[in-house]
Amino acid sequence: MVVKPKYRRVVIKVSGEALAGEQGYGIDPAVVSFVAREIQQVKEEFNVEIAIVVGGGNIWRGLSGAARGMDRATADYMGMLATVINALALQDALEKLGVETRVQTAIEMRAVAEPYIRRRAIRHLEKGRVVIFAAGTGSPYFSTDTTAALRAAEIEAEAILMAKRGVDGVYDDDPRRNPRARKFEYLTFMEMLNLGLGVMDATAASLCMENKLPVIVFNVQEAGSIRKILLGEKVGTFIGG
Ligand code: UDP
Repeated sequence: MVVKPKYRRVVIKVSGEALAGEQGYGIDPAVVSFVAREIQQVKEEFNVEIAIVVGGGNIWRGLSGAARGMDRATADYMGMLATVINALALQDALEKLGVETRVQTAIEMRAVAEPYIRRRAIRHLEKGRVVIFAAGTGSPYFSTDTTAALRAAEIEAEAILMAKRGVDGVYDDDPRRNPRARKFEYLTFMEMLNLGLGVMDATAASLCMENKLPVIVFNVQEAGSIRKILLGEKVGTFIGG
């Protein structure tokens, strides 16, 4: 029996942290390979169209640079460049598994990747390629969560799968510090914002809300999570409405 996935086209937001090892920073090739394998498996099984938005927080965050006296825009450009490094790492790992990919960056870098062109990205997806969006929105003062919401709306994706590391959804407190923290099965974007839950910034949330894009927050370290989400099984926290 052929299993029909719940979503036909998705954006997977891979935070920088999800590519780092135990130390929490930099790139751990074994971790990147694991994430790539999770993606390759669902690509092979369901042939879902997958676009990836990568973060850069494992290498550099604009806000921390600005907090230490750097010009905010410059620090943000450094953050966007960090996402390009992660994108290439993920591309390498996916291609090693035989998945055809294209990296598109919002900041032109001809020798390294294609520029972001919406219609071209869609064409790649239709041809079965995984498209990795790098360099965020290309503008400072934004986040890669906002990029995920923006690109998902642009390419008409049906959901954003938000890959986290070490935490399997949204909690009312940090589960790593508070053992009594409660996990939310379902949340609306409004509830998330009103409760001040640090899942994503308000810009990303409002874009998702306006464009009716559900977000599923899950732990990418738990093998098979992406597959389960695509099958419509309850995994992590579902943010909608
Ligand atoms: N960034 C930016 N504009 C964007 C996306 C990202 O300036 O459209 C910068 C920003 O400095 C951010 C850094 O890139 O801190 C890395 O992205 P992010 O913090 O979203 O990565 P993640 O937390 O997902 O690893």
